[in-house]
This record gives sequence, structure tokens and C-alpha cells, in this order.
Amino acid sequence: MRRLRSVKIVATLGPASSTYEVIRALHEAGADVFRLNMSHGSHSEIAERHAIIRRVEEDCKSTIGILADLQGPKLRVGVFANGEEDLVEGAAFRLDLLDEEGSATRVTLPHPEIFAALEPGAHLLVNDGKIRLKVEACGTDFADCTVLAGGTISNRKGVNVPDVVLPLAALSDKDRADLEFVSDLGVDWLALSFVQRAQDVIEARELCRGRAAILSKIEKPAGVKAFEEILEVSDGIMVARGDLGVELPVQNVPPIQKRLIRRCRAAAKPVIVATQMLESMIESPMPTRAEVSDVATAIYEGADAIMLSAESAAGDYPVEAVTTMNNVAEEVESDPTYTEIIEASRAAKRATVADGIVAAAREIAETTDIKAICCFTSSGTTALLTARERPRVPIIAMTSSVNTARRLALTWGTECVITGELERFKQAVVNAARAARARGYADATDQILVTAGVPFNTPGTTNILRVAPCDERLIYNTDPE
Ligand code: ATP
Ligand code: MG
Ligand code: MG
Repeated sequence: MRRLRSVKIVATLGPASSTYEVIRALHEAGADVFRLNMSHGSHSEIAERHAIIRRVEEDCKSTIGILADLQGPKLRVGVFANGEEDLVEGAAFRLDLLDEEGSATRVTLPHPEIFAALEPGAHLLVNDGKIRLKVEACGTDFADCTVLAGGTISNRKGVNVPDVVLPLAALSDKDRADLEFVSDLGVDWLALSFVQRAQDVIEARELCRGRAAILSKIEKPAGVKAFEEILEVSDGIMVARGDLGVELPVQNVPPIQKRLIRRCRAAAKPVIVATQMLESMIESPMPTRAEVSDVATAIYEGADAIMLSAESAAGDYPVEAVTTMNNVAEEVESDPTYTEIIEASRAAKRATVADGIVAAAREIAETTDIKAICCFTSSGTTALLTARERPRVPIIAMTSSVNTARRLALTWGTECVITGELERFKQAVVNAARAARARGYADATDQILVTAGVPFNTPGTTNILRVAPCDERLIYNTDPE
């Protein structure tokens, strides 16, 4: 599906977006990657949505990324008999370990370790901090609270206890089972929640055994502190602002977002900005001005992807939310100031031949009329390096690996074309020219750039850069083998 923007859109699936029709509509409106949140939904629901996404991908002849988000050591309340309850300020509300559905006066919090660590006076934050509870009295299996800030509480909402240090392992038994399940199912990205140290990522990577790329969600003070080491061992990052904004003072989030985006770009690893981007669109077809501005800011900052959570998973306007993001992105990216900002913040260290070639490709594309940069890549690295340059023309990643193509769905400005195994450079150039024309990026009189590593099928890195005509006869007549 051809997009008129470079930033990618991630849409979380849920009850509001579980049918073929809605998922296809989300993709057509702009969703490039779908997020399956393992905190909600059973394995059979996850498998069903996964199958639908792959069908949409085939029917639309697209490449779609699937990101499975592991719950991690997140505390969540149980379920309610009525699905939800309104908590009003000043009311009493009890959390306990009973194996019973919740009501307006109590709900299960199935984590004995938290009751052991709680003390009167501690604050509990529910649903990304929207509801605040204060502990009045507590024991080994209950906490009696007063509602300080009310709101609707519903099934499995997250709970944060910023005042208390909890002894939690990085991957729970549920996470291990979910990891195995989704890796076998075939997802492209595995997101790890509450990453606190590089070791958490290394451990998950060992369990995943290359079946998916690993994305670390930064949402804890410890994760922010150890960010450089975490980035080093991760394939991508999510600025998970929901929990980040309750674990840290909320005003700390914007500077962290800015810094993380810059660091990820320098490392040529995709970064997603997530949570509450268009929150009011859960209930309204129109976003607030502040939300539009937030989406725009993430794009101006150079994020690879922007994400919808409840807006697309459980809201009343999932397709409208994607359309809004798409429209904001098209507008921002056509603003000359956007190009200025993005080009002024190019800070990559160049150490290899491939770094030099992608930089040269970008410069040539800026000085002559080039319609696209077509890069042949097997692992995706050359496409990531090209995207780091943030060229003004589209990047077409040519790869024989469908897994590589799907992982690159998260990467700024990159569209993927699956090629057969190629033996000769001339054949590669012809393929690239055909792809650029077929996708509407160029016609026969135009020129493209092709980067590749020759000879083909030998491990090594990108070492050739060709300014090529899109007319196949010209390529056949002029190109070396
Ligand atoms: P996380 O901390 O991983 O972001 P979350 O609870 O905030 O978890 P999101 O996916 O960010 O979850 O937001 C989606 C919201 O939509 C949830 O809070 C939940 O209320 C609702 N929802 C219900 N069912 C699902 C589902 N199957 N998948 C995703 N969200 C769901
Ligand atoms: Mg969330
Ligand atoms: Mg979270």
C-alpha cells in the first residue's frame, strides 16, 4: 500500500478492531503495523487476529508488520461483574486477593507480593494514572483505599505503585508462555514491557531464538537510566508514555521522548512514540488540538512510528483515528520546516563503507532528480542505515526475505519489495527499476539509485551505488554484469 508519508503508523487491535473488515479498513487508512497486546485477549483471539492480518496483507498485496506486546511485570486488577464501575472521589474501595468478580466497592488485585510491600499512605495509580487511590489500611491480602481522583475502572486495568519498590522478575510465567506462543505463531516484533536493564532484553532474545526482532519499551525510571545499554542490545525502542508518565513526574516525559528519539536515530534503530496520542478519539470523532500537536511533535522529532492504543483497540472511531494520524503526518512532512529540522539533526557516526554509500545515495538524491533509493538488503541493515539518513526520496528496500520486509514495516520512509534470489547486479537493477515503476514512484524516463553488495549471495556489506535509468532497455545496453 503506497503511503504519502514517511512516518509509520502502529494500531493496537482489540474488541473494536477484531474483524477482517475493520482490520482491512485500518490498513487502508494507514496502519502499517498492528500491535497485539498480550495483556488483553486469549491465545485463540490473538491467533485469530494474526490470521486476519496475514489475509489482509495478502489481499492488499502489502507488507504488514505484527508486533506482539508482552505484558511484563505489570500489576493489573481482575475483572468486574459489570465489566466496569465508576469510582467517585472520596469513596472507599478495597483491593484484595479474593477469587471473585469485582463490584463498585472492591476488586481483585492478584499479586500477593504487592500487599506485602504496601504501607498506609501509599498511592496506587490505575489506568495510566487516571484514577488515584490512597491506601488507608492494609494487610497481607487486602488494601482499603480512599479514591482521591475518580473515573471509570474496568477489566484488567493496570496499577502502578510509584512509592513502593516491588521485587518483580522481568518475565513472568505468563510472559514466557506468551513469548513462545507468539514466536511460534510468527510475529515480526516482540515488545518487552518495563525493561529495566540490558540483561532483561538478552534473556528474552535467548528465548525468542531469532523468531522476531526485539523492541524494548522504556517506561520505568531504571529503563531510562540504563537506556544506552538497553538500546545496544535491542532492535527497536518504544517510548511507552503511559507508564512512564506515572512512574516519573509527567513533565519528565517530553525531554525523555526527545532524547530517546535522537539516540535511536543515531543508532539506526526504529523508535515508536506511544500512548494517549489521540486519546479523546476513543469517544469523539474529532481529536483535540493538543493531541494533533502531540502527533505532529513526534513526527517533527523524527520518530519512526506513532502508535494508537485504546483509540484503535477499544474506541468508537478506530479508522478515523488512523486517518487523523495519516493526515497530520502528510501535512507535517510537506512542511519545509520539517525537512529543515530533520536534516539539521543528522548526527550519525560514519564508520563503514555501507555508512558512506548510504550517505552518498542521500546526497545524490538531493542534488539530482532521483525518484527513489532502492537498496538490496537481506538482514535489513542497509535499509536501516539508509533510513537513518532521512533522504528526501522514498526508500525501497529490496529483499528476498519476507521476515526482513515485515520487520522494516516499522522503519521510517521504507517500503519493501520481495524479490526472488538474484545472481547478477544487472538483474537487480532491472528489478529495482521495475519495482519503482510498478509502485508509481517513477516512470521510464526517470532515474533511481540502486545500492547493493556484490557479488550477490556472498556475505558482506553494501559496496556498490548505481544511478540507473528506469528504462530496462537502457539498463541492458549499458550496465556491466
Ligand atoms: P500497556 O501497558 O501494555 O500499554 P494497556 O492496558 O495500556 O497496556 P493498551 O493496548 O495500551 O493497553 O490500550 C488498549 C486499551 O483497550 C486497554 O486499556 C483496554 O481497556 C482495551 N482493550 C480491551 N481489550 C483489548 C485487547 N484485546 N487488546 C488491546 N486492548 C484492549
Ligand atoms: Mg497502554
Ligand atoms: Mg505499558
